[in-house]
Amino acid sequence: MRVVITGSAGFLGSHLADYLINSGHEVIGIDDFSTGSADNLYHLQQESKFDFIEHDIRDPIFIPSVDLILNFACPASPIHYQSDPVKTMETNFLGIVNMLHLAKKTRARLLQASTSEVYGDPQVSPQVESYWGNVNPIGIRSCYDEGKRAAETLCFDYRRQYGLDSRVIRIFNTYGPRMAENDGRVVSNFIIQALRQEELTIYGEGNQSRSFCFVSDLIKGIAAVAFAEKNFDQPVNLGNPNEFTMIELAKKVIEITGSTSTIRFLDLPQDDPRQRKPDLEFAKKYLGWEPTVQLNEGLKIVSDDFKKRIIH
Ligand code: NAD
Ligand code: UDP
Repeated sequence: MRVVITGSAGFLGSHLADYLINSGHEVIGIDDFSTGSADNLYHLQQESKFDFIEHDIRDPIFIPSVDLILNFACPASPIHYQSDPVKTMETNFLGIVNMLHLAKKTRARLLQASTSEVYGDPQVSPQVESYWGNVNPIGIRSCYDEGKRAAETLCFDYRRQYGLDSRVIRIFNTYGPRMAENDGRVVSNFIIQALRQEELTIYGEGNQSRSFCFVSDLIKGIAAVAFAEKNFDQPVNLGNPNEFTMIELAKKVIEITGSTSTIRFLDLPQDDPRQRKPDLEFAKKYLGWEPTVQLNEGLKIVSDDFKKRIIH
């Protein structure tokens, strides 16, 4: 297949590009390098099956003979998506409009990277796909949450109105090698702080929970949805169901890195979800997919990656 990946210079997009090229597909990456990095694509420079276009997906684009579009362009870390909320909302909304236009013109299939953030601060746990969520429409996270919700709506409207083969996955917190040093999300922050023997910064009291998925598991789940013969009539949750509080995560990171760091408590940001855990029954039943990498194993791999790249 000829596959367009938007956000290909980012953490997930670059892993997806590797996976697809290794599976024999041709990949055209699109990115504006706002949170991604050319370093993530450096190893693909000589790869004949990889092409790259520097482009902001808020602007229309035409690429001929596309079979599949994976729309991953969007800042994913709260500090990044909140630093230019208007661009975040536009990337989500105008970006998916432009990619749906491209899919319609080329008759390509489209897979939208949505997020567990569409559940907001969930009042049910675990979060099953049929849950509509609890989202503040005007808060500091809304540019991301509501932007992603609007993008989901458009995917299903294009399917109903134009018969387009659009698919939606809801990704839960994922971590792995290649996370940016300045990403700001909790796993990379804690590991970098621990490796530098600095205090680990916990926001709030640290009793809020997240469930962390290792990137190799996620990529297999994405491919399972993207290449499934039949489309599903709903979004698909992808993540890891093992839930940890931020205190538990901090202790694990300190232990795994052998660090002497201690913990420092900072203010909890507005609208920070109190809990998050995916219900994965749908993915298990219809894709035969479930994650296998345990948190301890994954954290060790990420710690080794940061040691190689940034801790000297
Ligand atoms: P990332 O910031 O590493 O990657 C995003 C990429 O998109 C970057 O390379 C950035 O430069 C690019 N980009 C941003 N705005 C753009 C624009 N307007 N035009 C072109 N390129 C643009 O983040 P990530 O963790 O790799 O996330 C990728 C996607 O997966 C995002 O859509 C995110 O919402 C979704 N997601 C990720 C997670 C996770 O835990 N990593 C969880 C849920 C959803
Ligand atoms: N967090 C933290 N310390 C950090 C970064 C984040 O305690 O240095 C918390 C944050 O408040 C949230 C959780 O860790 O409760 C996950 O945050 P992240 O930004 O990784 O992703 P989110 O799931 O909030 O989008």
